Amino acid sequence: MKIAVMGAAGRMGLELVRAVSAAPGCTLSGASERPGSAALGKDVGELAGLGHLGVAVSDNSEAVIAAAGAILDFTSPEATADFAKRAAEHGTVHVIGTTGLDGASEAAIQEAAKKTVIIKAGNMSLGVNLLVALTRKVAAALGEDFDIEIVEMHHRNKVDAPSGTALMLGQAAAEGRGVSLTQRSVRARDGHTGPRTVGDIGFATLRGGSVVGDHTVIFAGDGERIELTHLAADRGIFARGAVKAAQWGKGRAPGLYAMTDVLGI
Ligand code: NAD
Repeated sequence: MKIAVMGAAGRMGLELVRAVSAAPGCTLSGASERPGSAALGKDVGELAGLGHLGVAVSDNSEAVIAAAGAILDFTSPEATADFAKRAAEHGTVHVIGTTGLDGASEAAIQEAAKKTVIIKAGNMSLGVNLLVALTRKVAAALGEDFDIEIVEMHHRNKVDAPSGTALMLGQAAAEGRGVSLTQRSVRARDGHTGPRTVGDIGFATLRGGSVVGDHTVIFAGDGERIELTHLAADRGIFARGAVKAAQWGKGRAPGLYAMTDVLGI
């Protein structure tokens, strides 16, 4: 399977290049970067520490998408919306790991999914997707006398908050309770907030150092507390998940799929 990596010189991009190169049956067919990137023209294998692969980083995303069976895209919301349109035109499987997508980008992705296979997940790891399923189950079992708080920590360079994973966990908790996350989420607290409102789903965001991604869902009741935690120590877990998603998407009917579909959980 021919797989291309968009945003190939990014933190995730380099991991994706390594994961595609290591995956049996997969060939790295292209690597794209934004116009003006210092990586343009360089061999992506050398950037990823793999030695010469014969794939130069290009800013012609159209050509990279056209030549690939699947693209792995961990870039920016604007770029991802544009790639979805192009992937739909070429029938290329589009694996989206980009987070912080706004309404317009989500709408562009929904539209593109009518014509091609799109697999989108705020987190591509097996462990986190299991955590999502557990969160939904525990939220359904406990009810509103247990307060739900979601705590996440990421490296100092992360640009969106709360993390896409924290929002996935919040969504799962809301679904478990049968409520709308938009109506019940509290994403920041400061100053004299008054007591906690029953049924709120709270988020707390920590940023610092090189932390790859820590998430804890807390269910705090009277006299007892349940905490479900996932700690990511290596970006390779997301990259391997993305390659698995691309392989799973090959030959499937057009549509918008989640990582839980890929993992069958
Ligand atoms: P990063 O800034 O290191 O990398 C993003 C790369 O995309 C950069 O190299 C940038 O130049 C490139 N890019 C931007 N616009 C482009 C364009 N138009 N064409 C080609 N390349 C373009 O960021 P990162 O830490 O690698 O994270 C990227 C995204 O992936 C973020 O949204 C992050 O939250 C998300 N992420 C998701 C998961 C997951 O499992 N879903 C895991 C980790 C990170």
